[in-house]
Amino acid sequence: MMVRTLIERKRNGGDIAPLEWRELMAQYGAGAVPDYQMAALAMAIYFRGLTREETGALTEAMLRSGDRLDLSHLDRPRVDKHSTGGVGDKTSLLLAPLISALGVAVPMMSGRGLGHTGGTLDKLESIPGFRTGLTLAEATRQIERLGCAMLGQTAEVAPADRRLYALRDATATVESIPLIAASIMSKKLAEGLTGLVLDVKVGSGAFMPELSKAQELARTMIALGADHGCPTVAVLTAMDRPLGRACGNALEVRESILGLRGEGPDDLMEVTFALGADMLRVAGVVQGVNAEADARTMMQQAIDNGTALTQLRRIIEAQSGNARVIDDMSLLPAAPVVREVKATEAGTIAEVAPRAIGHGIIAMGGGRTKVEDTVDPAVGYELLVAPGARVDAGDVLALVHARDKEGAARGEEALRGAIRYGEGPEALPLVVGRIG
Ligand code: URA
Repeated sequence: MMVRTLIERKRNGGDIAPLEWRELMAQYGAGAVPDYQMAALAMAIYFRGLTREETGALTEAMLRSGDRLDLSHLDRPRVDKHSTGGVGDKTSLLLAPLISALGVAVPMMSGRGLGHTGGTLDKLESIPGFRTGLTLAEATRQIERLGCAMLGQTAEVAPADRRLYALRDATATVESIPLIAASIMSKKLAEGLTGLVLDVKVGSGAFMPELSKAQELARTMIALGADHGCPTVAVLTAMDRPLGRACGNALEVRESILGLRGEGPDDLMEVTFALGADMLRVAGVVQGVNAEADARTMMQQAIDNGTALTQLRRIIEAQSGNARVIDDMSLLPAAPVVREVKATEAGTIAEVAPRAIGHGIIAMGGGRTKVEDTVDPAVGYELLVAPGARVDAGDVLALVHARDKEGAARGEEALRGAIRYGEGPEALPLVVGRIG
């Protein structure tokens, strides 16, 4: 196939036909198209966009490049949640055990950190021994037994997206509505779901910061779900500040365990419950006018009576992780250097910019700048202030967790750049809207 012709056509604003997408992505998934050509095509798509038909064809082509989970024999609904990417966003770590503890099968297939955002797989792998590389057969057996598996995109699932995802990260081509939509939906449609909840982030730390673009992304993904008979709901949530206090892989696992113990920060729990309520609704577990309230009661009970935490323990054990981290969080990787960063002046915090925080984590080694980079699980931030907080000079703004003194200096510099004093703009509501 003449990949060069397709790049040229897209560069000039033309369309690629469904059969061409299918052949291209099958070959790319099989390693027969070089990354440099796909990088050029991704950049052409970034600038030229894709039509609705092309986005559907690309999604279908990436889905067909691999195998799918077949869970149709299960007697329960099968629902997943996927985020478009954020900083401090650890809701997947809470929702997979929480919702599966309530009788819904959750085949959660997640990604690694992308751009300035964190990835669920990197977070899970900070649990000593935790294996995300399950085969589809292993995931199926685990879901049959426990109702949940938290896995990475195996070589079998949408391999074309798997390669393209990593390539986009390294070539600054993440922020494209059709590429994000096709990437997310090709993975999600391979999970054999009966329903899907999308967390579409809005605000400066989102890949699509503007509300109108986030809505367009949400509608594009909902339409792709409908094309494949997968009822899809999008919840638009705030990413104009990091979610929760912990940002960085092991630190986020720690905060997730606290959340499942009933000790999570309010903003994290609110977004978790909003998404979880929609998961229970699309699963048909709650219905009618009281659905939201009923769902929240069920989730709170699963946290209060310990079933959600027990379910996390089972998942960690099943995936060869050290489940003792739940009782003894000192078993999680810890950074050798923890530096307090103090306010140099009194004032009101106007902004804690999530992008700068995400880049700070990468600068400390907690994320990737190249596909082959390994991630330091221990580094990151514990943020002690949020927009709107009043601080005095000398108050601790955050703890920087770093590998060494140089890393701590880079982390502090990024943190100071992320924090702006002054007035407004007003923070977005945690749940900005809902489509679907
Ligand atoms: N998550 C994905 O799986 N893909 C994207 O492109 C962005 C977020």
